[in-house]
Parts: sequence; structure tokens; C-alpha cells
Amino acid sequence: MKAVVYNGPRDVKVKNVPDAKIEQPNDVVVKITTTNICGSDLHMYEGRTDFKPGGVFGHENTGEVVEVGPGISRIKKGDHVSLPFNIGCGFCKNCEAGLTAFCLTVYPGMAGAAYGFADMGPFPGGQAEYLRVPYGDFNCLRLPDDAREKQDDYALLSDIFPTGWHCTRLAGLQPGESVVIYGAGPVGLMAALAATIQGASKVMVVDRHPDRLALAEKIGCIPIDDSKASPVEQVLAQTRGEGADRGCECVGYQCHEPHGREIPNLTMNNLVGSVRFTGGIGVVGIFLPKDPGGADQLAKQGEIAFDMGLFWFKGQSIGTGQANIKHYNRHLRNLIHAGRAKPSWIISHRLPLDQAPNAYQHFDARDKGWTKVVLKPAA
Ligand code: NAD
Ligand code: ZN
Repeated sequence: MKAVVYNGPRDVKVKNVPDAKIEQPNDVVVKITTTNICGSDLHMYEGRTDFKPGGVFGHENTGEVVEVGPGISRIKKGDHVSLPFNIGCGFCKNCEAGLTAFCLTVYPGMAGAAYGFADMGPFPGGQAEYLRVPYGDFNCLRLPDDAREKQDDYALLSDIFPTGWHCTRLAGLQPGESVVIYGAGPVGLMAALAATIQGASKVMVVDRHPDRLALAEKIGCIPIDDSKASPVEQVLAQTRGEGADRGCECVGYQCHEPHGREIPNLTMNNLVGSVRFTGGIGVVGIFLPKDPGGADQLAKQGEIAFDMGLFWFKGQSIGTGQANIKHYNRHLRNLIHAGRAKPSWIISHRLPLDQAPNAYQHFDARDKGWTKVVLKPAA
């Protein structure tokens, strides 16, 4: 089968790889209809992780079940399914508590498993024609009969719509509160949509790309361009000097300049500065753990500027981590089905799998108009 294979820093190729097949009784095999490129893929694409050349990318997968193992009873051939990017077992103590991003069974050691991800197990990604899904009964979310008609909306259920939602929950957002979101990438825009649906009174979105800020404005958010003036000052001006009730970090470690210098991430200090005393901060942007044995560049990724003193003095709280997609995807699917959520307004490109190398290049460079790419292996 064809798949998007990592070849080295900023180099992916579409190549033939062994077909996905049933390996365990609880596996299902899914024919991929939509698989998205994510900001998380860029950590690996840019060569900042130990993701091995030859590995297949792709953790945002939707498709049709074509084969089920003998241990599968709920999911049937022909079902249209959304696949959470985290792979859970369903029965460990973390999965039972809804913390499927920290499953203790599927990839023991670190806690948490995912498709096509560095440090999250040996599971090939779904930027391919087919995908093997472990614990299929648990990990497949069935889509309703409008699966084809609303395919663009449902495609965002495997990761970023639930992740944006999770960020607002980590921040503790309540109806009527204000929130500032750092990052108008796909994840930040989903956090903005989630906050809007949950009844935030004011949603401010910080970035420096006018095309991305315009997408935030389109759903009624206040765009804040941090290349024009301090984002902290701009948020304070919007909130009578108090600061936003809640803040979301949807940026993570960034290196904008291809082959260029590192840009220090200031979002954590900006959040502490622009969120009110006793406010809450959610962090879904990825900061890779410090690797004591790694190369210099790798070792720096987990350490960023953070004013612990001001954070403490303001009595703020913070929540972090990978999103537990299964905790949200059923309800968010229902919102899409009912027509009450249409996350697909951020999708900029729908491309066949063969065009993945070109799409990676544009998305990585944050080229104008390349906000969210969905790949269609069956096209
Ligand atoms: P992205 O890189 O496309 O978007 C990031 C945006 O942040 C860009 O538009 C960029 O211009 C902007 N930005 C950069 N520096 C900034 C700053 N200092 N202040 C404000 N904005 C700034 O990526 P994405 O797909 O939106 O993902 C964002 C982050 O979320 C990534 O780190 C990704 O790995 C992570 N992520 C986490 C989870 C999870 O479960 N926790 C899931 C998906 C993605
Ligand atoms: Zn993703």
C-alpha cells in the first residue's frame, strides 16, 4: 500500500510499505478516507525527535472498516469510523478514568500510545491507504449516516476539535468568561470554536499570520496580532486591565525558520501576564521532554522561559498534556451531526496522498492560506 514515509528532516516521500493487516484478535483494519497533516507531525518532520526514517506519519485518521479480527464484536465491516489519535486499551486504570492519552497497556513505559508518533509506540500512521487499529471495539467511534456528506467536519474529530475543547477544559472555562488563546493554527482555532460553543463572553486569539487571524475573526473572535504590539498589553486593554479569565496555549515548541535559528517560545510568560489573578491556563501545545542524552538542540526543547514567581503571585492554575480524545469525541460528533458545530471552516486543502510532500513543505513554512491540509488516500 502507499504511505507517507519519513525520510529525514523536512523530507517525506510517498512510497510502498507492507499492507496493514490483522495482527491481534482485537484489531480492525480501516481503509483511510481522510487523514490530516497536524502541527504535531511537524515536530517529527523538522527532525527534532527520534522518529526513525522509514516510519509512516499520520495520527488524524477517518475511514471505513474493511476487516475485523476474531475478538471484535461491536464494530462491523462497512462502518464509517473516526479514530482517536491516542490508542487506548479501555481497561487500565487511566483508560477507565477517561484518561486514554495515558493508557498503561498499549505502549507500556511512557504511558500513552499513538499512531505515527515519536516516543508513543511502534504503531504506523494512517497517512496511508490502510491502518491497523488495535483494540478496535474501544478505539473506533462510529459515524452516523451523514458520514460522507459531513466528512470534512468529522475528519477533525480524531484530534484537533477534541484537543481544542480539552484545552478550554484544562483552563477551567465557564460560560460568560473571557479567554485568550495563543496560536491561531488549527488547534488554536479549534479551541476558539470550543470556547464559543461553551458560551465564552469574549474570545481573543493571538498570532502573527493575518490569514489565520482572519479565520478566528470569522467565528466572532477578537484577533490579536502580536507582531504589531505586545499581546499582553492588547489583552489587558480588552479586559479593563484585569486580564482574561482563562488562557490557552496552542503553540508549543516552534521553529519557524526552515534550517534557521531557533525562536524562543514566549507563550507561557505571555499567558501568565495576560490571564487574571486566580485564572486558569490550559496547555496543549507540545513541549518535548528534555532528553539528557540527546543532541544539544533536542535537549533544549523542554526548557522554556517561565516566570514561576508571577504565576505563583497571581495564584493561577495550569493543566497540561495530550488530549484524551475519547473523553470528548462522542459528544462532539453529536454536535456535528446536529449541525451545531462546523469545525471544517479551517480546512484549506483537500489533496490526494501523492501530494503530501508538497503539502508538508507549505504547512511547515506556515505559507499563506495553508491552514489545514486533509489528505484523501482513496482519491
Ligand atoms: P501550528 O504550528 O500550525 O500552529 C501554531 C500557531 O502558533 C501558528 O499559527 C504560529 O504562527 C503561532 N505562533 C507561533 N508562535 C507564537 C507565539 N509566540 N504567540 C502566538 N502564536 C504563535 O500547529 P497546530 O496544528 O495548531 O498545533 C499547535 C500545537 O498543538 C503543536 O505544538 C501541536 O503539536 C500541539 N498539539 C497538541 C495536541 C495535544 O493533544 N495536546 C494535539 C494536537 C496538536
Ligand atoms: Zn494532530
